[in-house]
Parts: sequence; C-alpha cells; structure tokens
Amino acid sequence: MRPSLLNPLFAPVTSLPGVGPKSAARMAYHLLQRDRRGAEALAGALNHALTHLHHCRLCNNFSEADVCEVCASPQRDKRQLAVVEMPADFNMMEATQSYGGLYFVLMGRLSPLDGIGPREIHLDRLISRATDGVVEEVVLATNFTPEGEATAHTLGELLKARGL
Ligand code: ZN
Repeated sequence: MRPSLLNPLFAPVTSLPGVGPKSAARMAYHLLQRDRRGAEALAGALNHALTHLHHCRLCNNFSEADVCEVCASPQRDKRQLAVVEMPADFNMMEATQSYGGLYFVLMGRLSPLDGIGPREIHLDRLISRATDGVVEEVVLATNFTPEGEATAHTLGELLKARGL
C-alpha cells in the first residue's frame, strides 16, 4: 500500500498532544493491521462523543444534558464555585469527596505563547457565572504550574474587582 493512502489518518493522530509523526504511524498501522475491532470501537466511541457530548451550560464540563448532573444536584452547595483547568482536574477533586460546591471548567489555562487567551478559557462566562448573586466564594484550583498560577492570579484580580 502506498503510504500516501494512510496520510488522512496520520494527520489527525499527529495532532494529539505528545504524538509525533512516528508514533502516529505506529498507532495507525497497529489499529489497521492488528486491532481492527479496536479501531472500530475507537471510531464509534469518538462518533458517539462528538454527537452526544456538549458543554454544560453552567460549569462548561462535558455533559450529555444542557446542565450536567453535578450542577443539577440539589445536594451541592451553590455558594461555592471551584475553578479547575480540565475535566480531569474536576474528576480528581470529585474523587476526594471533600468538596461539595460547584465547578467551572476552563478547558485550559492562560498561555499567551500558545495563543490561549481569555477568550479560549471562557473568562467572560466564568465571570458572569461567578457573579450570579448566589456564588459567595470562588476557589481557584488551577494547577501548580507557571501558567496555572498566572491564570489563578488573573482570575483572582478580576473576581476581587467584582467583590468576590
Ligand atoms: Zn455542569
């Protein structure tokens, strides 16, 4: 088979974080040659996720419904809002079972060098969410990386200016 036939498959795999052209080729060959059922399952799962998963209107996490289960739960303390970077951070905080408030998932962190600015992390949505009149405390739970700290600092300043 001419390698060019597989190019349309390599390109999207190479776009994944941490995957270079060589790994992309290895994964593509593996799926096509050794694990066709795995490839079908992957394609199906991706299709399902793309069709059914949207962003929760309130917390921005992935959800099949307009408002996710956590946001819709009457058990949660609606006065507390924790800001996390990614759905994985959300899951980690939920796993500790020590936080009973609500969330906002930025889906990233400020990183001007990578072209990730206030718009990419939905800052305007977070601000209007945090100033809904119910939220009293915002917990900045971004990661301990330079970008995470800078994001928390910027958010802190914006929220303080709004009396939170
Ligand atoms: Zn939600």
